[in-house]
Amino acid sequence: MNPFEESILQERLMAIQQRIAAAARKSGRESSAIRLVAATKSHPPEVLAELFALGIRDVGENRVQEAAAKRQMLGSKGIWHFIGHLQKNKVHAALHLFDWVQSIDSLALAQALSQGATSLGRTISVLIQVNISAEASKFGIPPASAEALTLEVNMLPGLELHGFFTIAPFADNPETSRPVFAGLRMLRDGIQERTGISLPILSMGMSHDYRIAVEEGSTMVRIGTALLGQRRTHSGQ
Ligand SMILES: *Cc1c(COP(=O)(O)O)cnc(C)c1O
Repeated sequence: MNPFEESILQERLMAIQQRIAAAARKSGRESSAIRLVAATKSHPPEVLAELFALGIRDVGENRVQEAAAKRQMLGSKGIWHFIGHLQKNKVHAALHLFDWVQSIDSLALAQALSQGATSLGRTISVLIQVNISAEASKFGIPPASAEALTLEVNMLPGLELHGFFTIAPFADNPETSRPVFAGLRMLRDGIQERTGISLPILSMGMSHDYRIAVEEGSTMVRIGTALLGQRRTHSGQ
């Protein structure tokens, strides 16, 4: 049996797309400017297959091993984004599974990915993870380091740098996150202008705050719960 009534998934998807479109209009953009990544951690491969059947292309996974099990069943379908914290000893495995790594948070990690990608004769799309609100999250570089890392990552072979990724600290009222999203956009605008490096992608916004993120210029939202419901536990996977 399918884990979801397909119609429920489709209804949720349409509601999300409408909200994205409304928020995009508020920021003077078309909904086509925003890419939806389904955050599928803890959900079984059948769920990803249903998403692909509904026309979703992009899926985001947080753990290399969990993604490996799913990819084995789903083959070459979809565009796979790594959105967790990548340890250097998982770089090789990640390169066989993912098209994007959104969470570049050190030069060492970028160099390891670059070496791995070049030895495989491929390129991988990357984003630099910035911790805009320095107190709340462990991962991501401070905004003050973003320009230097951008210049370095942009020179590495095998990597295609597209922009930035951030996770806003959870707040009951998503309006609280607006300055975080605006902050990443302004940081990007400045770095782009000073370096001349094109950084079109801002990956920001999750289930509870994607509307605010899109209003503030997000081009890629990562949505789990609002699309798929509460996450299943990791035990039993
Ligand atoms: C799980 C996760 C999401 C999706 O979170 P929801 O609140 O369920 O939409 C987005 N981004 C990252 C990095 C995640 O780990």
